[in-house]
Amino acid sequence: MRTFLQRAADRLHAIEDHLTVRTQIAAAVAAMSILLVGTLAAGAALISYRHTAALVESSLAGIASATSGRLDRFMATRQQEMKLFAELEPTQRLWQGDPNELRSALEALQHSFEFTWIGFADVNGNVVAGTGGLLQGKSVTARPWFKQGLEKVVIGDVHEAIMLASLLTQRANNEPYRFVDIAVPVRDKSGKVLGVLGGHLDWAWATNLIKDVEANDGNTDTRLTILSKGGMVLVGPQRETIRYGGDELAGILNARNGTFRETTDGRQLLTAFHVGDGYRDYQGLNWIVTASQPASVALAAAISSAQTILAIGAVIALIALSLAVLVSRRIAAPIIAITREADRIGRAHGPTMLARQSGSAEVVQLSRALRSLLRRIGMAEERTKEAELRATENAMQLQEDMLKLRHLADTDFMTGLMNRRSFLTVADDAVAYCRRYKRNMATLMIDIDHFKKINDTHGHAAGDDAIKSIADIISQSIRTTDKAARFGGEEFVVLLREIDQETAILLAERIRTSIAAATVRHGGTVIPVTVSVGLALFDESDRDVQDVIERADQGLYVAKKTGRNRVFMMPATDERAARAA
Ligand code: GH3
Ligand code: MG
Ligand code: MG
Repeated sequence: MRTFLQRAADRLHAIEDHLTVRTQIAAAVAAMSILLVGTLAAGAALISYRHTAALVESSLAGIASATSGRLDRFMATRQQEMKLFAELEPTQRLWQGDPNELRSALEALQHSFEFTWIGFADVNGNVVAGTGGLLQGKSVTARPWFKQGLEKVVIGDVHEAIMLASLLTQRANNEPYRFVDIAVPVRDKSGKVLGVLGGHLDWAWATNLIKDVEANDGNTDTRLTILSKGGMVLVGPQRETIRYGGDELAGILNARNGTFRETTDGRQLLTAFHVGDGYRDYQGLNWIVTASQPASVALAAAISSAQTILAIGAVIALIALSLAVLVSRRIAAPIIAITREADRIGRAHGPTMLARQSGSAEVVQLSRALRSLLRRIGMAEERTKEAELRATENAMQLQEDMLKLRHLADTDFMTGLMNRRSFLTVADDAVAYCRRYKRNMATLMIDIDHFKKINDTHGHAAGDDAIKSIADIISQSIRTTDKAARFGGEEFVVLLREIDQETAILLAERIRTSIAAATVRHGGTVIPVTVSVGLALFDESDRDVQDVIERADQGLYVAKKTGRNRVFMMPATDERAARAA
């Protein structure tokens, strides 16, 4: 059960994420409306059914009671009439007089009093006179009405007339004659019983009474029935059958009046009953009058109520649904706008801000919170950029510093030429290049002549000036692809690339002559300076640049030995050297 609920909840959550707020609110309102309208309609139907059923039952009870009352009053009147006739002074002489006269009087009574038959039997049970001459001279000693009528006023319950029926003309519908007997003892002045005045009331009048009531009721569904105290139907559908018996009948007779529900022929009926209890002198025969109506009448009212409520409910639900859609659209609109804005911001370059949104307190708050968030993000972005810029700047500065440092490390402080270390690195590369591509290169070894003397004569500072001047001249004399370095003291080495022997000698000569021609000044004095130059060309047999420099140094040695202020090229082999010498 728990897992089922859990699964249902999970499924609902999964669906939820695919539904818009609008759909969700509309669905909730629709479900609520259906529940509410359904409950109201069902409730109204139930209340209406109960109410209508109570109304119908009360109306039926009224009809049953009124009908029962009319029955009793009718019987009471008939009994009164018979009693009056038997006790009247002027009729006294008729009882023992001419039977024909008595018969005429009885016939007059019959017509005005609605009796089928009225007759007078003497104490021996012989009928002295009867209306229409019927039963005259016959004995009725065995008839209950006669036997009891000798004692007191009696009313016999409905029964089929055995003797009289055969004498009366057949009825049109072949129905048997049913009678109610009224018997009254007839006494003379002294109180002696002379006989019994008996009357038979045709039961057909009760049928008419009921038809009359049914017709006047206006409700064609109302069915009236008269039952004997034994529960047999006297008037109404299924005559002669026992409709109620046993406890049911006892209950009815005990309660005297009330209502109940029953099922007859598969139809639910609302039934009210009333047990006749007489009127004045008339004791009553406990006849039961029932009035019934199908329960469907009450049910129809209930259904009609439910339909009305459903119709009204549907209209209200429709209005509620429209309102819900409107409200949900208003709720969803700012959320959709914020989503679009957020999407736009996500794609935008550079700083951007969310537009203010309104629609509800929550949306205003959300919009405010998002704007604040964006401001913070923007600030953080700017800070990051600034930091990046600073880092780049620092890196550039560092690179510059490193370049400067490298330059300082590679440069001779006094002359600005390359120093020995950096020169050798470049020269090594040059030798490797020449070897691989079979190119030419040369080195010059330059040394100032009699420099000690310059120092001694003009001072150390003058010597420095001379070194700087000569370095300048060497730099200006070579091509940009060539490199010059100060190797220490007043010695210089020059690397000449892509050069043949002839051009190398020409270049060395030009350097030498330029220096000899230049005037090196220190303060006011002019110091004459010359240099000696050793020249060596790269040879395949050279292992590295040191071999070439070594040869140039040998050339310099020769130049110094042979008079100074001159250039001497040292060939690669001794043979060549010998030849050159
Ligand atoms: P040579 O013609 O045979 O070369 O004679 P020299 O006097 O030039 O002899 P050498 O080249 O051996 O002498 C170098 C002198 O240069 C020794 C030293 O006192 C001087 N010297 C070395 N470095 C410097 C420097 O940086 N400044 C100055 N002023 N003098 C230096
Ligand atoms: Mg030297
Ligand atoms: Mg020297």
